[in-house]
Amino acid sequence: MKIDVNMFDESNCSKCENIDCLTRCQWMDIDKETARKEMEKMINGEDSFVLKDCVTCFACDEYCPYNSHPFDLKTELQEKYNSYNMPPQMVEMTIGRYKPHDELRLKEIDPEKPVLNKCAFPRTNAKNMEGKLFENLQYVSGLSYFCNLLYHHVAKDSVIKERAPIILENIKKQGIKEMICFHDECYGFYTSYCKRNNIELPKDFKPIHLFEYVYGYLKDHKSEINKLNMKIAYQRSCSNRFIPEIEKFVDNICELIGVERVKRTYDRENALCCTAPFASFGKVNLGKQAQNKNIQDMVDNGAEACVFVCPMCQETMNPKIAEKGLKSFLLSDLARMALGEEIS
Ligand code: SF4
Ligand code: SF4
Repeated sequence: MKIDVNMFDESNCSKCENIDCLTRCQWMDIDKETARKEMEKMINGEDSFVLKDCVTCFACDEYCPYNSHPFDLKTELQEKYNSYNMPPQMVEMTIGRYKPHDELRLKEIDPEKPVLNKCAFPRTNAKNMEGKLFENLQYVSGLSYFCNLLYHHVAKDSVIKERAPIILENIKKQGIKEMICFHDECYGFYTSYCKRNNIELPKDFKPIHLFEYVYGYLKDHKSEINKLNMKIAYQRSCSNRFIPEIEKFVDNICELIGVERVKRTYDRENALCCTAPFASFGKVNLGKQAQNKNIQDMVDNGAEACVFVCPMCQETMNPKIAEKGLKSFLLSDLARMALGEEIS
């Protein structure tokens, strides 16, 4: 009997030639024949070694030439088979950590103006939300608006689905129409996850990726830009695999502020995960090796800094980045620097 996976579309798998969702996986060495066999098993709702070895980088969603969302199949089965074998206490603790508040504290906002969602970073990344780009924006933050996509990394897709209506109801109650998502993950949740799970967004609600906003601001303030003349390596995030269309804003921003995104092995579709989702439990060495080859690739290709979309990726990779003599920035901070601001 087939598992009821409502997001994954298996209709093209039988005619899929390369089974890219497994043969291109950078974390497992799988030939075409094995890939086809394991895929068939998973489509039939059976267990597979893939589920345990998967590091939840979401890249297979982008590799699939038919846009079938193979990670959705994996994440549901990972939960079904408890593939990460996490101790129940740890699971409970993780689930409780980002639980939405029972009551929403309403703020006074102007519904006709965009609202910045600072997500879980209002304190840890307060310095990254200062200056011209942010000073005139009204904002919300915290667990009432936290998208919960991180539960993919602990094989708890059901938690995301259970909480999605609560978060969307909060947006509706707060009367937010345009939300600028500081975190890439939130944008991926609204525009990709909700869409493919048939989770309806509030009427007239429009999520805006931070980079779309930054690019728009830079275009409107072109005369204030001082080109940075830097060579950087760009580090994609896992949620970015759900929304590859955002890549164009990265390139456009880099061009406007005079930054060269160096060509390297582990960028764009071939990006490597920062290792945050798995390096702390069970796959420590794999994480170390991946960071080493990723950052060495940046150095070898002449980057002077590593630039991030996600503050969590940045925190995870910063020690190794510093060790290799690279600087580290969020892309939005580079934009602020180009606008003449000092970044501490
Ligand atoms: S999920 Fe996509 S890549 Fe994987 S077998 Fe099906 S069609 Fe091919
Ligand atoms: S999520 Fe990443 S590690 Fe898991 S199967 Fe897909 S590509 Fe491989």
